[in-house]
Amino acid sequence: MKFTQEHQLFRQSLRKFIKTEINPYVEKWEEDETFPAHELFGKMGEQGFLGMAYPEEYGGLGLDYSYHVILAEELGRQCDCAGIPMAVAVQTDMATPALAAFGSEELKQKYLAPAIRGEMVAAIAVTEPNAGSDVAAIQTRAESDGDDYIINGSKLYITNGTQADWLCLLARTSVESGFRGMSLIVVPTNTPGYKVSRKLKKLGNHSSDTAELFFDNVRVPKSHCIGEEGMGFILQMQQFQKERMVASIMATTGAERIVRMTIEYCRERKTFGMPLIDNQWIHFKLSELLTELEILKQFNYHCAREMIKGEDVTKEVSMAKLKSARLAREVADTCMQFHGGMGYMEEYPIARYFRDARLVSIGGGADEVMLGIIAKFEGILPRRRKS
Ligand SMILES: Cc1cc2nc3c(=O)[nH]c(=O)nc-3n(C[C@H](O)[C@H](O)[C@H](O)COP(=O)(O)OP(=O)(O)OC[C@H]3O[C@@H](n4cnc5c(N)ncnc54)[C@H](O)[C@@H]3O)c2cc1C
Repeated sequence: MKFTQEHQLFRQSLRKFIKTEINPYVEKWEEDETFPAHELFGKMGEQGFLGMAYPEEYGGLGLDYSYHVILAEELGRQCDCAGIPMAVAVQTDMATPALAAFGSEELKQKYLAPAIRGEMVAAIAVTEPNAGSDVAAIQTRAESDGDDYIINGSKLYITNGTQADWLCLLARTSVESGFRGMSLIVVPTNTPGYKVSRKLKKLGNHSSDTAELFFDNVRVPKSHCIGEEGMGFILQMQQFQKERMVASIMATTGAERIVRMTIEYCRERKTFGMPLIDNQWIHFKLSELLTELEILKQFNYHCAREMIKGEDVTKEVSMAKLKSARLAREVADTCMQFHGGMGYMEEYPIARYFRDARLVSIGGGADEVMLGIIAKFEGILPRRRKS
């Protein structure tokens, strides 16, 4: 990936922002199990960090996706936790891409522009109690009533869920089953009948709030449908590519940070009269992890470049997401081991990383879902047998 001087200036300003506006508060936000999304996103919006590749008429910077690559790299590398990077990425790359690409002018002015300015917090609401990996099994319904939809159902594990001003919701708009008959709908969370039923407690990513949402006859205008009615599944599958791309980039730089931290620790820590790093097993293993991370970083760049060209990178992005998730888990386990007891203590960053890194293999499509996509593209996915 070719980064110009403008890219590097952008990278520097992001680093400064993370150092001054995020990291000093991470401990508190992790303890609180939430963060002030409106305040933080407002500050990010002022600096243009929430809509680099979005058009200027909606407050974006009108740049290309390479700037999102830098955002994801720096969030992953510089942040002292993974919860805030995830919450920011929901705003920039998970809940807004479909709206930006397919939403009506009115919808974009009303919901995309304030999200880019950081005045409104967005969430992506796909997963349900009975449908996660199998997105085609969702049951939340948006039934037609004149010019409106009436929405009933529930959504689970929704990031930014307790603070969101609007949701990009996937719901069934027709009686067809499977992947047909679904639509992406913008749902303002101040609509009567909408409720955050539970704030969920998690293993990691503590600073990010996660919620279960409930819809009881929530009425929204049909004009809130993103793109064509019935196309929701396909639009969401496209939107997932941005989500998985940034997840892979953040996981890669986040893991590299931890490996480099571990190298420093192993230089300092002595056992049997010599620094840990002088053990061949340790410096070989850390070298191998850095090698795999470098290869993955270059593959991420390849995916992003092809994405910028407008190519379909579904297979490649699925490979990147799969590999980054598995590598992050290996890094977490290896670096915890090389830290010994210190790694197990909350006062050291490895413990938080160990918890946070586990999510990458589950969120945004589990490893097995990525494998299924890759197998499909490679033509080795067996056809489902009819019983
Ligand atoms: C912290 C957090 C934040 C999240 N944020 C959001 C959000 O903002 N919006 C949103 O919509 N969702 C969100 N999710 C949901 C996430 O995308 C789902 O958890 C994920 O897609 C997996 O779905 P599931 O949990 O229902 O697992 P299930 O679908 O029940 O699958 C369980 C496990 O079974 C395995 N598996 C599944 N299918 C297959 C298969 N075909 N072959 C082999 N093995 C398989 C996988 O290992 C999988 O992990 C979040 C989840 C978490 C934990």
